[in-house]
Amino acid sequence: LIRLRARLARSQNSLGKGLLTLLSREHLDEETWEEIEETLLIADVGVAPTQELVERLRERVRVLGTRTPEELRALLKEELVHLLGTDFDRAVKTESGLDTPAVVMVVGVNGTGKTTTTGKLARVLIADGRSVVLGAADTFRAAAADQLQTWGERVGARTVRGPEGGDPASIAFDAVKEGIAEGADVVLIDTAGRLHTKTGLMDELGKVKRVVEKHGPLDEVLLVLDATTGQNGLVQARVFAEVVDITGIVLTKLDGTAKGGIVIAVQRELGVPVKLVGLGEGADDLAPFEPEAFVTALIG
Ligand code: GDP
Repeated sequence: LIRLRARLARSQNSLGKGLLTLLSREHLDEETWEEIEETLLIADVGVAPTQELVERLRERVRVLGTRTPEELRALLKEELVHLLGTDFDRAVKTESGLDTPAVVMVVGVNGTGKTTTTGKLARVLIADGRSVVLGAADTFRAAAADQLQTWGERVGARTVRGPEGGDPASIAFDAVKEGIAEGADVVLIDTAGRLHTKTGLMDELGKVKRVVEKHGPLDEVLLVLDATTGQNGLVQARVFAEVVDITGIVLTKLDGTAKGGIVIAVQRELGVPVKLVGLGEGADDLAPFEPEAFVTALIG
């Protein structure tokens, strides 16, 4: 938690402290509630969730009557956790339930941290005693396959790759085949995130998906979003959700933003849980997303 708090310091400073300071005012008048709303909006919580939160909070404060800062902090914490949803299944599905490997496809726009996330996830799985095969199906960005292979060598996973500019779907196919041949537990497939046209993306991801499914079910499609891109990330999320069935969100670079509220907005937008968060560039900087811990890091 101490580490999480340090990594979320920017959001804690503006969002967390901002809310607590406003709530500790002697009179919670209309203006103060508006400022609370503003603080939430600035942190990218999103319009509907912000209104919902403020309404619920106001009502509870009203019912409570007199209040101490501790009580208010507790209320705020409860309401933020409630907003994040406690009944989502946030585990990344890494067991296929069959005697073949679980297949996880990682999608998102280039630069969001897809390859890094794939590498970090492999590391977590291997540390947990699982065997992993990586599929370097991002053949668009020249260095992506090298980068993934470097991760693979570092963490102990074989990387299946093809020629530069090669067919992503055929690499994905080969990666799953290799995973089956090796008796691997999980195959992680890094894809390219060209967003120049939606049909191009749709064709490419759709093909990767279909080809992978020739071997068996696709267990998880993780959408990687860069938390520092704010509303832009939401636009990307929408486009990807139209193209493939996203089963989980990975929000990267939360360490680099004061707008941690995007976690709430993006979940709301897609109706899909944030499963993992990226908290830095290092190999250990990928964490499961836990609403309680997240909110505690923000407001103590
Ligand atoms: P891709 O094009 O989507 O595969 O993106 P990369 O995996 O190459 O990542 C782009 C940059 O973002 C790299 O410099 C990564 O080190 C960095 N990055 C990825 N995840 C995080 C994160 O959680 N926090 C920070 N600060 N940087 C990250």
